Amino acid sequence: MRRLRNVKIVATLGPASSDYDTIRTLHEAGADVFRLNMSHGSQGEIRERHQIIRQVEKDLGSPIAILADLQGPKLRVGTFANEAEDLSEGAAFRLDLDETPGDGTRVCLPHPEIFAALEPGARLLVNDGKICLIVDKCGKDFADCTVKTGGTISNRKGVNVPDVVLPLAALSAKDRDDLEFVCQLGVDWLALSFVQRAKDVFEARALVDGRASIMTKVEKPAAVEAFDEILDASDGIMVARGDLGVELPVSAVPPIQKRLVRKSRGAAKPVIVATQMLESMIESPMPTRAEVSDVATAIYEGTDAIMLSAESAAGAYPVEAVQTMNKVAIEVEADPTYGQIIAASRTANGTTIADGIVAAAREIAEKTDIKAICCFTQSGTTALLTARERPGVPIIALTPATGTARRLCLSWGCHCVMTPELERFKSAVVNAARAARSGGFATETDQIVVTAGVPFNVPGTTNILRIAPCDERLIYNTDPG
Ligand code: PGA
Ligand code: MN
Repeated sequence: MRRLRNVKIVATLGPASSDYDTIRTLHEAGADVFRLNMSHGSQGEIRERHQIIRQVEKDLGSPIAILADLQGPKLRVGTFANEAEDLSEGAAFRLDLDETPGDGTRVCLPHPEIFAALEPGARLLVNDGKICLIVDKCGKDFADCTVKTGGTISNRKGVNVPDVVLPLAALSAKDRDDLEFVCQLGVDWLALSFVQRAKDVFEARALVDGRASIMTKVEKPAAVEAFDEILDASDGIMVARGDLGVELPVSAVPPIQKRLVRKSRGAAKPVIVATQMLESMIESPMPTRAEVSDVATAIYEGTDAIMLSAESAAGAYPVEAVQTMNKVAIEVEADPTYGQIIAASRTANGTTIADGIVAAAREIAEKTDIKAICCFTQSGTTALLTARERPGVPIIALTPATGTARRLCLSWGCHCVMTPELERFKSAVVNAARAARSGGFATETDQIVVTAGVPFNVPGTTNILRIAPCDERLIYNTDPG
């Protein structure tokens, strides 16, 4: 599916977007990656959505990335008999371990370890910090609180406890079960929630055992502090602004977003800016100007992807939300200032042959009227390095590996195309020219840059850069060897 922008769009699926028609329309409207949120929905529902995405992918013939997002040691309240209750300021409210549905006086908080760590005076922030409860008295299976800031509390809302260090394992029993479930289903990315240290990522990676790429959600102050090691340990990063803005003052989030986007790009690892990007579109077909500006800012910062959460999962306008992101992206990327900012924030690159080749490919493409950079990639590394360059022409990532094509759908500017297993460079060039033409990137009279590693079956050997015509007869006539 050809996109007219470089930044990618991640759409979370949920009750508002779980049938074939909606998922297909979302993809056609611009969603490059679908996120399956393990915090909501049963494994059965996740399996169904997964099947539909793969069916859409097959029907449209373009790779789609699936990102499964583990709940992590996120604390959530249980359910309510009436689904929701209004808590008013000054009222008493109890949290306990009793799984009976809650009411206006109590609800279950199914985490015994929290009760052990709580102290009187500690804050419990519910529903993205909208409700604040103060602990008055607590024991091993309850906490009696006073509502400091009231609001509506409903089924399974998140709870943050910023004042107490919580002795939580990186992966809960549910996470381990979900991890195995989604790895067996076959997902391209696995997102880890509430990571505190690089060790948490290693632990998950051992369990994943190569079956998916690992994305770390940065949503704890500890992860911000340990970011360099975490980036090193991860394949991708999500700036999870929702919980980050609860655990830290909201004013701390924008500078962290800027820093994380820049560092991730420098490391050639995809980064997603997430949460509340078009929040008002959950209920309205029209975003606020501030939201549009927020989406634009993330794109100007050079993020690989922007994400919709409840907007596409549970809102009234999931397709409109994707269309809005798509339109803003096209507009921002057409602004000459965008190109200047992207070029100015290019960091010093590595010193390998592959680093040199991708830099040269960008330089040549930008200085001539070459229409696309076509890179052959097995593991995806060359495409990631090319994306790090943020070139002014489209990147066509050609690969015989389905998993690589899907995974790269998250990366800035990568248009992913499947190729047969190739043996000779000449047939690679022919395939690249065909992909450029059939994708609408170039015509027979245009030229492209082709990068590859020969021999083809050895990963990590980018060693060829060729300027090639898109006319197949000329490819044979001008072939150097
Ligand atoms: P969540 O993560 O939607 O799973 O909470 C994103 C965030 O916290 O921003
Ligand atoms: Mn979160």
